[in-house]
Amino acid sequence: MNIPRKEAGYRPVNERIYDFGEVEQTLNREDRKLQASRCMDCGIPFCHWACPLGNKMPEWQDLIYKGKWKEGIEVLHETNNFPDFTGRICPAPCEKSCVLALHESPVTIRENEAAVTEVAFTEGMIKAMPPKTRTGKTVAVIGSGPAGLAAAQQLNRKGHTVTIFEKDNSLGGLLRYGIPNFKLNKNIIDRRLDQLLAEGVIFKPNTEVGKDISGKEILKNFDSVCIAIGAGQPRDIKPEGRNLKGIHFAMEFLSQQNQLIMGETVAEKKIINAKDKHVLVIGGGDTGSDCVGTSIRQGAVKVTQIEILPQPPVGKNPSTPWPYYPNILKTSSSHQEGCERRWSLNTVAFKGENGKLTEVHVEEVEWEKDAAGKFNMKPTGKTDVIKADLVFLALGFVHPVHEGLLAELGVKLDARGNVEVNTEGKSSVAKVFATGDAAIGASLVVRAIALGRKIAEDIHKSLI
Ligand SMILES: Cc1cc2nc3c(=O)[nH]c(=O)nc-3n(C[C@H](O)[C@H](O)[C@H](O)COP(=O)(O)OP(=O)(O)OC[C@H]3O[C@@H](n4cnc5c(N)ncnc54)[C@H](O)[C@@H]3O)c2cc1C
Repeated sequence: MNIPRKEAGYRPVNERIYDFGEVEQTLNREDRKLQASRCMDCGIPFCHWACPLGNKMPEWQDLIYKGKWKEGIEVLHETNNFPDFTGRICPAPCEKSCVLALHESPVTIRENEAAVTEVAFTEGMIKAMPPKTRTGKTVAVIGSGPAGLAAAQQLNRKGHTVTIFEKDNSLGGLLRYGIPNFKLNKNIIDRRLDQLLAEGVIFKPNTEVGKDISGKEILKNFDSVCIAIGAGQPRDIKPEGRNLKGIHFAMEFLSQQNQLIMGETVAEKKIINAKDKHVLVIGGGDTGSDCVGTSIRQGAVKVTQIEILPQPPVGKNPSTPWPYYPNILKTSSSHQEGCERRWSLNTVAFKGENGKLTEVHVEEVEWEKDAAGKFNMKPTGKTDVIKADLVFLALGFVHPVHEGLLAELGVKLDARGNVEVNTEGKSSVAKVFATGDAAIGASLVVRAIALGRKIAEDIHKSLI
């Protein structure tokens, strides 16, 4: 009742836009304990209900408050393999449903989570936990994002011999190649990979299954196969001028920047750089926001982000009341760094000179609800022109890539183009399971870890 919410906050804008270091700061341990003490140990902890992992928030808040960091990380690890990832980048549905949020500011659950893992890593509390015995069964996990890593760790700890196949140079999936370093430093992934290696998980990077090695060979050599390839097919739009130079999918830009920071080679002619450019980000979500922050750090003259939907309400939204995740205006650290945000704008045409993009024509739209309750877009005739040398399409992802592995294995797809699985995570092909974004469509890290843990249980049951 006496301690207000205190966030660690971000580094000052005028400092952080010149580097790719994490923007979020940390509180000292005493302040962190006080923040954890704000948890009311509710009879019905809605935070726990809202968390896809079922994290036991009240238990570990109390342990932090008492300074029992070791016990705190143990309770967290019971439900979450990688609280260091979610502690940094989770949108924290737990905080939105914290009972305090009804009339006060919620407990800083996400930051508290990151803090426990930092104390635990710094003080050597996080150790490899290799299995005592091996079952003799083998599992191939295809894809090393949070779903694949969580599945691999859980299965390995049950004694199965797990090999992760990853098409990229380094493991981590979108944690490594999508999410910018200013939200998640890559050494946070590396120390977990060290843990997995020490536990006996086998890594095969630079190996695209369906190309470098066939899916059939994997099926022949392993007792079980887990598809965790993510939902990598970006949503596209095709207005006039789509082929002009300067229009890129968000992931081309973001993955390249992460590669460069890691020291990976990117062909000179493929490099996309926003320095001195007018940048337009199409798509108002998190991926778009990451393009904003990256463009600003590269030295863009001006960054504009447009969204086809109307601006969500500020503060509270009666259509998504507590304890649900609120559909309200989100302002990220990147938005604070200087970006113009506009809503209800449809992209009508890309215009250019000599094959190069120079401007984007947009039109204001209205959204009308029909008798069936469905929203329909209505053009208003109000048009505008936005100067742009670079456009990043951040319109989301439609489903996993079908070419290659999925086509070769012939797994059945659901109506949305994701790998169809039954309640036990099984696909239509014997021995083949699917998890993470590949099974549910583009989502969140916290869901990927939760699904990775679930598929590990499903596969384990099928093997014993
Ligand atoms: C730019 C961006 C920012 C995001 N920010 C956040 C955020 O802040 N918070 C949050 O919660 N979520 C965020 N997300 C969403 C989150 O990253 C994903 O939901 C999550 O990573 C999905 O995990 P996954 O393991 O299912 O798949 P992915 O992370 O996509 O990993 C799939 C892996 O499979 C590999 N692969 C694919 N095909 C093959 C093959 N044939 N053979 C071998 N390997 C293959 C890929 O290279 C990749 O490494 C973001 C997404 C993007 C794109």
